Amino acid sequence: MNSNNVTKLVSGNSSIIIGDGIINELENLFPLSNYSKVAVLTDSNVVKYWLPTLENILHNKIQPIIIPSGEIYKTISQTEFIWNAMFKKGLDRHSLLINIGGGVICDIGGFAASTFMRGIDFLQIPTSLLAQVDAGFGGKTGINFNSIKNGIGIFKQPIGILIDTNTLSTLPEREFIASFSEIIKHGLIQDKIYFSNATSKYPKDFSNSELTDLIKGSVNIKLKVVEEDPLELGLRKILNFGHTIGHAIESNSLQTDNHLLHGEAIAIGMVAESKISQLLGNISEMDFIKIKNSIVNSGLPSKVNNISTDKILEIMHFDKKNINGNLLFSLITEIGKAKYDVTVPLNIIKESIDYIRK
Ligand code: NAD
Repeated sequence: MNSNNVTKLVSGNSSIIIGDGIINELENLFPLSNYSKVAVLTDSNVVKYWLPTLENILHNKIQPIIIPSGEIYKTISQTEFIWNAMFKKGLDRHSLLINIGGGVICDIGGFAASTFMRGIDFLQIPTSLLAQVDAGFGGKTGINFNSIKNGIGIFKQPIGILIDTNTLSTLPEREFIASFSEIIKHGLIQDKIYFSNATSKYPKDFSNSELTDLIKGSVNIKLKVVEEDPLELGLRKILNFGHTIGHAIESNSLQTDNHLLHGEAIAIGMVAESKISQLLGNISEMDFIKIKNSIVNSGLPSKVNNISTDKILEIMHFDKKNINGNLLFSLITEIGKAKYDVTVPLNIIKESIDYIRK
């Protein structure tokens, strides 16, 4: 490993280490030998590609726990399965859980570890692009509950986050493209130049080093926001741009045979919530079209079918960001700037949702 190509950042008390091939340095980067046992949580896809690597590096001293892959398994019953496995494998309060996988594994694994025996250490190794730029760090862990996205969860920092860009070599193309919605979101809410860079090419056309720069850029943008407001009492809410409508679309799709990926639903949510900004007069029609075209040109969807405006509104009423039943939005005020806790007249919300329905 060339140490010049390794970036170290700090998130709360944990370090985020980014580099190509750094999974091989895991034992040098984190104090694994201090733990009584090390278990590894992964999913049925990632296990094939990356568990053998981990077993090799850690000399088979790990206890694997495998759950099925997919958002529909980010549930309380899979959490119970993980807790049971942790007890059966003899983990105690001095053990470590390594979560290696996409955002689902980081979220559910972080939650299972944070609640097991009142909380044990965990380490995140995000392997999807979406988890590397967003879900794998920031301290939010959780599961979906009764169709409510991330309805149950806890803020807890891992001991560290290892982002090995080489793990993206096995990521399916649809997942790779979908991840660009969170990258685009970071630009839209915080950094106009980053937005221009991230949307300057079709995602697959970025070179490895350009992609690594984009990952670092996104990590830095999210970290800056999270540092200022770790518990999402204020500023951090801007990271939810696109998520009020996007989560409702995602939750609904999970009840059908046509699951949208998280990033795909958020892309549609960002189009709808940018439309709100336009209708409120906060952004020009030209900027709205620029945003929508950037999303579409990145290979992301901008419309959803088979769902009524009323159904989307109904699901949105369970959103965690609501206060006293009022829908609250995080909205952009220009490309690169956002505000939070915005109430929006119902007719504008409806018109924006109508816009993204096919
Ligand atoms: P995911 O975990 O389902 O991963 C996507 C798919 O890619 C899965 O099928 C997985 O098996 C596969 N995969 C992952 N890495 C792979 C690799 N290297 N090679 C081959 N296959 C691989 O979903 P995601 O898109 O990574 O994350 C979405 C989740 O993240 C959602 O549940 C969302 O709510 C959550 N999220 C959390 C936060 C947070 O701050 N905690 C932020 C954003 C999103």
